[in-house]
Amino acid sequence: MFQSAIQRYLETHQHPSIQLKAVLFDMDGVLFNSMPYHADAWHKIMEERGLHLSEEEAYLHEGRTGSGTINIIFQRQFGRDATEEEIEEIYQAKTNSFNTHPLVQRMQGAWELLTKVKRNGLFSMVVTGSGQSTLLDRLNENFPDMFRPELMVTAYDVKYGKPNPEPYLMALTKGKLKANEAIVVENAPLGVEASAAAGIFTVAVNTGPLDSQVLLDAGADILFPSMQAFCDSWEEFFKELREK
Ligand code: CA
Repeated sequence: MFQSAIQRYLETHQHPSIQLKAVLFDMDGVLFNSMPYHADAWHKIMEERGLHLSEEEAYLHEGRTGSGTINIIFQRQFGRDATEEEIEEIYQAKTNSFNTHPLVQRMQGAWELLTKVKRNGLFSMVVTGSGQSTLLDRLNENFPDMFRPELMVTAYDVKYGKPNPEPYLMALTKGKLKANEAIVVENAPLGVEASAAAGIFTVAVNTGPLDSQVLLDAGADILFPSMQAFCDSWEEFFKELREK
């Protein structure tokens, strides 16, 4: 079922095979069902400041650093970047607004998938543009013994953020991995773009409101309609990876 996608990846990147050692997970919209709250928070605090960012557009910017998103809106409306102070004030307000929502839940299927990955002798890493300490703290609480802090890539590690391949290239370095020793699980077009640009096999899970074609156009190698669906197909996928 996945043979042709795997073959296409190997040919494009001229790898003889995928020697899987690690699975690199994006956080929001993959491990946590947090995107509806993020989109709402972005939209609300921007409107309060006379800035326009619809919830749907927030999904298209998903994966960017906070300052990256803020600067795009400032450029569009004012023809300039935001100042450091403006970025700090807006990102803080956005974080505060996000935190007024109930605690985010694990994405359905995420824990089960992590357990399967671990059982197969692989390790998992988190690669996120987020710098929200509440979510980062909750990773360990929700996914105990799944992630080693020194192997995490967050907003604090990166300069450019997604869609730049930097976060995923950094994950490869931190994990001492070659591009064909990992796969990425992403839900956002910019995250898929970053992963594909880093040369890593990219699994897209469409957990939000965007059309699936957007994720395929961004460079996803395979696509699932949910994390649960990917989790349910894990055994077959892993088997086919190893047979290649
Ligand atoms: Ca995401």
